[in-house]
Amino acid sequence: MDDLPANLTHHRAIAPNANCVLDGTVWYSPAKSFWFIGMACGAFIGGALTFSVGAVALFVAATATVLLFGHSLGSHRKLIHDSFACPLWLEYILVYCGVQVGLAGPLGLLRQHELRDYAQRLPDCHDYLRHGQSPWRDAWWQLHCELELENPPEVRIEPRIANDRFYQFLERSWMLQQLPIALLFYLWGGWAFVFWGVCARVTAGVFGHWLIGYFAHNHGGMHYEMRGAAVQGRNIYFTSLLTMGECWHNNHHAFPGSARLGLRAGEFDPGWSALVLLRQLGLVWDLRLPADLPARAELREINSRISVS
Ligand SMILES: [Zn+2]
Ligand SMILES: [Zn+2]
Repeated sequence: MDDLPANLTHHRAIAPNANCVLDGTVWYSPAKSFWFIGMACGAFIGGALTFSVGAVALFVAATATVLLFGHSLGSHRKLIHDSFACPLWLEYILVYCGVQVGLAGPLGLLRQHELRDYAQRLPDCHDYLRHGQSPWRDAWWQLHCELELENPPEVRIEPRIANDRFYQFLERSWMLQQLPIALLFYLWGGWAFVFWGVCARVTAGVFGHWLIGYFAHNHGGMHYEMRGAAVQGRNIYFTSLLTMGECWHNNHHAFPGSARLGLRAGEFDPGWSALVLLRQLGLVWDLRLPADLPARAELREINSRISVS
């Protein structure tokens, strides 16, 4: 399998051949591991010692805000997929909220997404890139390790994003960006607000991102099959509110450039609802839908919902 499928010719990732996403080594990453373990310790130990209803309410509100406006709208639907238009100041606010999830800087997250997306569209890829191992090993890999490919594809980020000084600043300082929020929360509600509003929020965001990523490539319904792809996306039902609509991952594999992820009746998509509201306020426009995207030869619609576990 040396030839690349035609649908990958206009991808941010560029590789000489399809094998480049197969061979690699998963190695322990102390920075990634300590970041997650440190936040989890703060959440479970500090959170238990300082428990209060107000702190838990702050955790819920702050987590929902960064997942909806930050991760789903800012990082994913705007920066990565450019599925809607908005003023630059609003894009900056949304992407800054995305950095608050605590996964990576904006450029690093974009690179990770593009590498995964590229690898998953090829006929075969490393298990790390498609969540192809048991949940235990996958959790260890994704939360504590990095994959080093022998010949990694080059990911070219367009100059508008790559040369943006604000994004470069966030890329260098994404972990430190928790500090101003932590200080604000400390002044507002003491250590309880820091443990719940920062540590528990980051723990939930990072762990939830892995958990949904695992299920979204292993278990769940499918409306569409991407022929020739190493792995299919899955729709995970009953997790709309937890994921802000990102759970409709089978739809996303089929229509990556669509601003709307929940496409059928009953597929509640809070991210899309927020975009519709922002459009009514005149803050976003040109929301792209599946019908606006170029046809894909490898896309096959499955008539009935297939539930695979
Ligand atoms: Zn995927
Ligand atoms: Zn995506």
